[in-house]
Amino acid sequence: MATKNISILGSTGSIGKQSLDVCRKCGYSVKALTAFSSVKEIENQAREFKVQTVALVDENSAKELKIKLADTDTKVLSGVDGVCECAGTESADTVLNAIVGMAGLKPTLTAIGAKKKIALANKETLVAGGRLVMGEAEKNGVRILPVDSEHSAIFQCLQGKPSNRALKKIILTASGGPFFGKTAQELKSVTVENALKHPNWSMGAKITIDSATMMNKGLELIEAVWLFSVKPEDIEIVVHRESIVHSAVEYDDNSVIAQLGLPDMRIPIQYALTYPERFESPVGELSLSKIGKLSFFEPDYETFKCINICKNAINKGGLCTAAVNSANEQANLMFRQGKIGFLDIAERVQEVLERTPVCDEYTFDDVMEIDKFAREYVMR
Ligand code: NAD
Ligand code: MG
Repeated sequence: MATKNISILGSTGSIGKQSLDVCRKCGYSVKALTAFSSVKEIENQAREFKVQTVALVDENSAKELKIKLADTDTKVLSGVDGVCECAGTESADTVLNAIVGMAGLKPTLTAIGAKKKIALANKETLVAGGRLVMGEAEKNGVRILPVDSEHSAIFQCLQGKPSNRALKKIILTASGGPFFGKTAQELKSVTVENALKHPNWSMGAKITIDSATMMNKGLELIEAVWLFSVKPEDIEIVVHRESIVHSAVEYDDNSVIAQLGLPDMRIPIQYALTYPERFESPVGELSLSKIGKLSFFEPDYETFKCINICKNAINKGGLCTAAVNSANEQANLMFRQGKIGFLDIAERVQEVLERTPVCDEYTFDDVMEIDKFAREYVMR
């Protein structure tokens, strides 16, 4: 079903703002918006789109927003409950989750419970609670459409797939981030400023650091396992510096189909909303002759340890990926705060993984418990 009425969670972030741009272009009616604490930004968005409901997680910011929006019909909510109420907004048919981190898990589950179509940018939802999310989606007959560019590419390459057996492997591309080609010795002394300089994409701070450590590709491998029901060993990661080939799939006959385009998130955001249709986009045309050359390399797994940590976590199963995700969220934050070095991120995440018990089944409360454990362990 094509989107008509939408709620955007995390609307003040990089993906949130680009999603609103797509809504402007496609003429979607925006019903609810949420953010952590950005009063001014969300006030402007609420006024422009005349939204029914907005929520800020931070209580004081929500109080301030309520005063600012007093002359409008917009209802202002607060806290995680407020965000979840927005995720379940009755008048919306689609929820685009652009929250950063596993804080997006509960709103995703709420939106699935309310039978909304989910456009998912928040990859941490699947890394922390893949089994819960996919189980609930199946139970409620809900479709999860990827917004992450690689997963959108894979999804696009799978259109017209002849049978369940035909897919041989997924080729997940990675830009390699700002530190491609660097040695571990060189990485010891990199600064936050260096790590925040992504060569191809302009994104929020957390994912930009994840791209520098290549944790982002590990998280995306886990995301792909859940979204496309594949085994981790059927995903090949390839470093592709130009970020033009957004990922590819290989079929049983060794035919490889890839999706290409300029690196601009508005293409995958729009496809998640217009699927199965395609409409004009504000993104420019790709000129292969102007680009000239596309390059591909094997990742340096020894130096960028996070990819294999994620592979081990998904192979161990259960809460291991949730633990790795939460440990990374904490370590990523501490690196940005100047409290730990760049290489400490992988080291601390690995330590948490080693201390996570293996189990098959888990509940939402178990995820929250392992989240607390992982963060505390990283902080010690
Ligand atoms: P961002 O930091 O720019 O924005 C995050 C949004 O989430 C903001 O609106 C913020 O107010 C809100 N938020 C922060 N903490 C919150 C909390 N605890 N509870 C509720 N809301 C909270 O992040 P981003 O770069 O837009 O990324 C959002 C998600 O999309 C991430 O999961 C990221 O991995 C994924 N993603 C981003 C890009 C990109 O180009 N930026 C590409 C692919 C996937
Ligand atoms: Mg991505």
